[in-house]
Amino acid sequence: MILAVAVALTAGVLAFVFLIRPEDLPPAEEAPPWAHLEEKRDVLYDNLRDLTFEYSLGKLSDEDYAKAKATLQAELGKVNAELERMQVQKPAKTAKAPAAPQPAAGTVCPHCGAKFDKPLKFCGECGKPMAGGGA
Ligand SMILES: [Zn+2]
Repeated sequence: MILAVAVALTAGVLAFVFLIRPEDLPPAEEAPPWAHLEEKRDVLYDNLRDLTFEYSLGKLSDEDYAKAKATLQAELGKVNAELERMQVQKPAKTAKAPAAPQPAAGTVCPHCGAKFDKPLKFCGECGKPMAGGGA
């Protein structure tokens, strides 16, 4: 009898879990666009740990271990690079003023900051080469 109740409860819980599909959940607006990458990275780190653990138990041959480890590390490298790229490019929400239009290349001296109406090869103020080098 108790078992039957327990089974019924379990079935109810399972049905509840499976009835809530991801698309029914409210969108996680707070999650940054790279959140899934951080999750992926964590999973890869976990996999690496597990791999090392299984290798330490003698479940894997040296070759299998090296191959799997290289695969995971390559994947990790990609994820980390992508994460870095996204986080560097994240929009600065704190910026209040709209971004000033970028001056045309060669019109602002990178050395002394002097500004010119036309692009120049050499700064009219300090005489050093302007940005861009060989155009
Ligand atoms: Zn200058």
